[in-house]
Formats: sequence, C-alpha cells, structure tokens
Amino acid sequence: MKAISVPLACVLALGGSACVACAHLIGDDSHDGTAPHYDFSIAPPQAVQLRGSQLRGDVILMAQAQRPLQPVAVNALPAMAAPFQAFAPKVKVRADGQFLYVESDGMPAHNMMVGITSWQQQVPLPQAYAGNNAWRIPLSPVPSKNPVSIKGRFLRGAVAIAVNGIPIFNPQNNRGEVSQEIGELDQWGGHCGRADDYHYHAAPLHLQGVVGRGQPIACALDGYPIYGLAEPDGSTPSKLDSFNGHETTALGYHYHGSTKYPYINGGFHGEVVERDGQVDPQPRAQPVRQDLPPLRGARITGFTAKDKSYSLKYDVSGETRYVNYVLNDKGSVKFDFVDGRGQVRSETFTPRPGGGGDRPPGEPKGKGGQRKGPGKGDRPPPPPDRGEARPSGGAGGAVAMASYTPKRTGNFALLSSAVASGGALPVEFTGDGASVTPPLEWVGAPPGTKSFAVIMHHVPGPGETKWYWTLYNIPADVRSLSKNAQGVGTLGNNSVNGRAGYAPPHSKGPGAKTYILTAYALSAPVQISAPPSQVNRDVLLAAMKDLILDSAELKVVYDRTAVTGGQKQGGRKP
Ligand SMILES: [Zn+2]
Ligand SMILES: [Zn+2]
Repeated sequence: MKAISVPLACVLALGGSACVACAHLIGDDSHDGTAPHYDFSIAPPQAVQLRGSQLRGDVILMAQAQRPLQPVAVNALPAMAAPFQAFAPKVKVRADGQFLYVESDGMPAHNMMVGITSWQQQVPLPQAYAGNNAWRIPLSPVPSKNPVSIKGRFLRGAVAIAVNGIPIFNPQNNRGEVSQEIGELDQWGGHCGRADDYHYHAAPLHLQGVVGRGQPIACALDGYPIYGLAEPDGSTPSKLDSFNGHETTALGYHYHGSTKYPYINGGFHGEVVERDGQVDPQPRAQPVRQDLPPLRGARITGFTAKDKSYSLKYDVSGETRYVNYVLNDKGSVKFDFVDGRGQVRSETFTPRPGGGGDRPPGEPKGKGGQRKGPGKGDRPPPPPDRGEARPSGGAGGAVAMASYTPKRTGNFALLSSAVASGGALPVEFTGDGASVTPPLEWVGAPPGTKSFAVIMHHVPGPGETKWYWTLYNIPADVRSLSKNAQGVGTLGNNSVNGRAGYAPPHSKGPGAKTYILTAYALSAPVQISAPPSQVNRDVLLAAMKDLILDSAELKVVYDRTAVTGGQKQGGRKP
C-alpha cells in the first residue's frame, strides 16, 4: 500500500486511471476498528482509502471538500453559508432574508459506524433534507431572555447542523445517557437513529481540518455558529459559559465544541421554539423499515461504500457478520444480512407512499382522546421524529401509545438486575420458565412523586398492543420490585388471559420480540373505580395521564426459538 498525501481539493486514483471524483467511496480496513468510539484526536478524514477486490489497485481519494473553500461572499449568500459551501455540491445552501437553508442527503463523505459498541442495528441511509425538508438556520439570531440548557431537554431531534450537512443531536440520547460515553458513537462522533439516519451526538471536530480554523464547524439551530476547540487565531477560548459559548469582539456570540460534556452547545443562547421535546421546526428523517432492538455485545468493525452499495461488518457472539445493502431506484433498499456461516437472508424495503414513514398506514391523523379499545386507533406522539429511537419504544409502540406523550426527562431510570436495557429476558421470567415477574428498580424519581406504576407491553404490529403486566398504586417509598413481586401495589389485567396478574412473554411467533417495561412516577395515587381485573393498559394510561411527573423505560428481548429450538408451539397464546 502506497501512502500519499494529497491536497484537500483534489481527488485522485492511484494505480488506476479511473476518475472517481464523484463516487462516494469510503471505508478503510487499516483504520477501521481501532478506536472504541469517537476519537477526538483522529486526523480529519480528508483522505480515505479503499482497497480490495472491487477496484483495480488501491485508491485513495479525497472525499471531503470537492473544491477549496471559496472566499466568503462570492455570491449573495450570507457569511454563514461559507463553511457549508466547502461541501458543495453534496451540501447546498440558499437563503432568504430570514434563514439560511441547508440541503443534504445526510450522508457524510467520511466513513461511518466503525467503533460503535452499543448498536441498535441501524445503518446509514440517505435522507431527503431538501426543499421544504431542508435545515433552517436563523440568519439573525436573537439572544433569548431565558436561555435554556439542553441537559435533559431537547432529547429528540437535532440541536445543531454540521457544515457537512449532518445533523447534530443532543449529547444525551433520548434515554438521557451520554451517547459518547456508552459506546454508541463511531470514530467521527456519529451513529444512526431509528430512521437509519446518520447524525452526530458531539461536535464534529474533524471537520475543522476541512474548513480551516477560521470557520465554524457547525451552526446551532438558534443561529449561533459553533467553532472547534480554538478561536480562529488559534488561541484557547476563554470564559466559556455553561453552554460552551461566549461573546468575542471578532465573532460576537458563538459556541465551541469540546472533548468533554457537553461536547457541543450545551444549550441555546438564542431563541428557539421547543415543541414535543425538540427544536421546531426541523426536517424529518424518513424510515424505510421498522426500527430494531439493540444488539447486545455487537461491535462494528468495518464499513465500506461504493456508489449505492454499502457493507457494514460487525462482530457478535464470536462471529463476523455483515449487513450489505443497495439503494435501488425509487428509494427501495435491498438488504442482505449475512451471518457467521455466510448464510444470507435478503429483504427489500420500499418507502411507504405519502411519506411520513414513521406512521403506519391507516392511522388516524386527528387528535386523540377517544378510546377505541385496547391499543387501537390511538394517536401517536405528535412530532415529526427525527429518527432517534423514540421514548415509547419503536414506531409501533408509539402508535399504540395513548394520546399523549408521557413526560420523560431522562433523569428517571428503570433498571433490572436480571437484564440490561436491550438485553435478553432470562427464560425464568417467561412462559418457558417460572413465569415470574422480573426484578426491577428505579432511580431518579422527581420530587413530589406520590406513587409509581409499571406497565409491560409489546407491539406485534402497527396499531396493535399486547400488555403483560399493569401494576399501579405502588407506594412512593418503594424503589424496587423483587423477582416474583407479590403484594405491592394493585395488579391490573393482561391481554393474554384478561385476568388480573402477570402474563409472561410466551409468543408463538418466530423470532426475537421486544417487550417494553415502563415505570411512571406519579404526582398522586391513581383513582380508578373499575375493579382491577378490568384495568387494562389503556384504562391505566388514561387514569394516570395527568399525573405523570416522569417515566422511564427498559426494553427487553425474548426469542423463543432459542429456547424451544424452533419446534412448533401449540395453541398457547403469547
Ligand atoms: Zn442518536
Ligand atoms: Zn470563541
């Protein structure tokens, strides 16, 4: 392998004559898999190498800037447009008097995904951040009278947009964990959300090498720019406020990225509109497939891209597996899931017509409030979800959720000593074992909590919900439930046999299923006149909807085929 350093602006091929200037080629075996997650010290990924059989010889190309950074004001665009223009033509900018609009397909030119050790099985897919769905940045940011921190807030959607057209989310994921610190991020500070949308959760400091120190690497959605670790003159920023921002004569108010929390603007100095837990408005990502549960123990070791073909390589359970996928015309995506023995399972996903792929077809658009029976017809949580896994646990779960979004600050957490979040539910707690309830504990209940409730449910498909455990009026001083909990709180019914009590997961369908345990911290005991045997999930949700101070979720996975060896199960209901 020859090493070569190339100037920023050019693209060249070694050992071959093909011009690959426009191909989107990424992937670097020699680099892949080195750092556990975002390594702030890595050099800007200006040059990436592609090796292997698909090309004649080794190729090194410049995948970042297609041309040198233009001097500011080559046209009528505002100065803020300049750093984005370094990524033209992949990133397009336009402006009206009020806003700068940024369009991109959400796919960075650098490599992705490598180094992730906490993975939800999503892969990067292009997104249509264009036209009416472009990013929008106020050209004249207005300092807010009440600047808001993003700690525990704005956990959905982006808080900033990087100059390469990639959204930047809160450093906390939607469960309130700091993504960077739990292995969710790749070496570039990014990963994919539930719409297979790539985004960062930290300042993409590596872009500084592309745009130069004098330019910001991102812009917060309040309109204030985000610079790298240094000022344009190379000096260290001084007197940063708690949002990583400050005012200087040269630049006015601006933020800086950092290598520790908050990693990015820690709040909004400027005015933003907060709606449904995110800055509003902002573009939405469009999923083509259902989101998947976390794959425990997986580690992503490689990612390559060539034109519209991608290959993600990962290790799990001592095996090396691949997700290979190809983008077809009209937005459909063909996936080949390759297991450790080389066996391939293929699946093609086609975007739903009419957009809004978050929402299953046929779902009522109107306001909720009307109960149509268990799990049917409820309105989903309102917002255009920007692809992050949704608090209520997946597209289906969101649909079947009641007609409100339970408050979730991220400070309240639900844990189990028997199973980690996203982990496999031990057989003991299922219909294949002792059928007892799993041990649970919760932490971080808000002040003023007067009682707790717990629900366990599963969403078999759009518009459907099954529930296995409804427990309410758990006294405020209770912080945990032991295994096979008895005599604590009031037991509602389950959808398996309709009787009060716990029904263990015992699905007769094949494959892994995700069960969602949710704990609610309530401002008062729940008042329900119906007998407990008639209290289903919807009844309980309706009764406590105005009492929810905070909620937390623990998702667990159970795959009966692993237990039963795939043998046919007779008529027992799940
Ligand atoms: Zn994310
Ligand atoms: Zn500064």
